[in-house]
Amino acid sequence: MKTIHGKQIIRETLPELLYDESRFTFGIPDAVCFPQTTADVRDAVLEANRAGLSITIIGGKTGIAGGSVPIDGCMALCFSEMGKIIRVSQEPGGAMILHCDPGVTLAGITEFLKDPASWKYPVEGAGLLSPGTWLYAPDPTETAAQLGGTIATNASGAHSFRFGPTRKHVHELVTVLANGDTICLKRGDCREKNGIFAFTSDQGTPFTVRKPLYRPPAVKNAGGYFAGPDMDLLDLFVGSEGTLGIFVECGIRLLPLPRFAAGLSFFADRKSSFDAAAFLRGQARVSAIEYFDESALRFLEQSRSELPFDLPQLPPDRRNAVYWEYMEDEGSPFEDRMDEWESMLTQHGSSFESTWSGFEPGEMERLKALRHAIPETVNNAIARYKRDCPDIRKVSTDTALPAPVFEQIFGEYIARITESKLEHAVFGHLGDFHLHINLVPRTTAELAVAKRLYEDMMRDTIDAGGTVSAEHGIGKLKTGYLRMMYGDAAIAEMAAVKSALDPLWLLNRGTLLEYPPETAPST
Ligand SMILES: Cc1cc2nc3c(=O)[nH]c(=O)nc-3n(C[C@H](O)[C@H](O)[C@H](O)COP(=O)(O)OP(=O)(O)OC[C@H]3O[C@@H](n4cnc5c(N)ncnc54)[C@H](O)[C@@H]3O)c2cc1C
Repeated sequence: MKTIHGKQIIRETLPELLYDESRFTFGIPDAVCFPQTTADVRDAVLEANRAGLSITIIGGKTGIAGGSVPIDGCMALCFSEMGKIIRVSQEPGGAMILHCDPGVTLAGITEFLKDPASWKYPVEGAGLLSPGTWLYAPDPTETAAQLGGTIATNASGAHSFRFGPTRKHVHELVTVLANGDTICLKRGDCREKNGIFAFTSDQGTPFTVRKPLYRPPAVKNAGGYFAGPDMDLLDLFVGSEGTLGIFVECGIRLLPLPRFAAGLSFFADRKSSFDAAAFLRGQARVSAIEYFDESALRFLEQSRSELPFDLPQLPPDRRNAVYWEYMEDEGSPFEDRMDEWESMLTQHGSSFESTWSGFEPGEMERLKALRHAIPETVNNAIARYKRDCPDIRKVSTDTALPAPVFEQIFGEYIARITESKLEHAVFGHLGDFHLHINLVPRTTAELAVAKRLYEDMMRDTIDAGGTVSAEHGIGKLKTGYLRMMYGDAAIAEMAAVKSALDPLWLLNRGTLLEYPPETAPST
């Protein structure tokens, strides 16, 4: 296994490993390992135990909460050389499972599914999959993300509105625990009994973990360890942000690929867009409802020259857009719904004429590229402003709100932001009542205003029963907000879960839970 030792050489030769998309840095590792196999990962973990080093797990580094950003003096495990598709298998019930290394990217999976049998190298069982007929439903916008990272954060995407977040599609995980042991878990293998998970690692170490009793907010949520009734141990690991174990093999469930029709419909204002979304939520075949407000479209337009595609003229009088996807099949072509949809669009001041449609794969790719370009153009703007003012960073929300209060509270957020005159871009997963507000400060004074606004929005979200993180996770940047949302008792329950699996708190220290914890971990 390639391993680089020494802070100076790491700083000079691997500077890109010292931060993620949040652009925060926390320190320089003592060593960076590039495992290629499960045995390599185990060796590294055993070495970290011997040397008393904490371990930071680095995936695709597209995270925006600092989870994979190394802390000073740690051992960093970087999965860039463990990115193979391993095999395809079929469960007795017929479910198709794709087994992958953790470092395979989402883009890699999509590419593989186009023609599995002709992949770059032979993949056992690839013949079970006909070309272009299967879908890995979770579709976080950033396809450079690695599978391991997306499982660790329980990432979501536009399709999560219909198909749920990553958790729902994880079938099996092979995980290296903090003591170097492995555990292979299939969904259904280990369920709680009387609130306790009792299991033995492959090497024979017994573990007992008390299931958390707190209730996560009743909205789309990626903050904190999962807890729920009749819980599966697999679900504790999914979304644990690398703090409970290191995924070394990931088995994900594939779905038959539906035929999608998609469109980007333009509306005059927020109200009409939200009203159209209410209609779309009620449609059984709609699989995605995304929103881009005027500020997001402005960013896109201003960055026209940077875009990797030709951006058509946006309608001058309709400056809000809703992206939707509809799943067709033989018996339910989109054509059958066009009259009903046309009258809905007309009722809300839009039409098919002011909709950019994506009925062919190429057109859909273009719409997806447009969706991806918005956060990228915001990040590019931040990078530009940073040149003049190095402290500058994006301040962005990842909140989801309960449906009944969503419009009111979101409207209040926007009124405050408009009053602050901060540059901003608003977009996201309207179907799930989950929109990202990106505040883009240019000066330290504006950054201070942005942080105050953020703090106020988090308090309002929590008071309303929403979550401070619906998909990006807590990382190292939001641990205080996790505590604010759940309270001290629930954080103590999470700390107990962590201590039961990782008594020395070696894995991803400072991510998801503050370190040192309030009560010292048992040694
Ligand atoms: C332009 C842009 C758009 C984005 N859009 C979305 C979106 O639509 N939805 C969404 O959910 N997120 C989105 N994100 C955020 C990011 O892509 C996700 O959080 C993603 O899941 C991170 O994956 P990664 O491989 O980059 O992980 P990293 O950022 O490297 O790490 C994330 C966390 O996972 C842990 N981890 C990584 N690999 C492993 C492993 N093998 N075992 C255990 N733990 C591991 C890390 O330690 C860290 O805590 C976006 C980011 C960008 C830049």
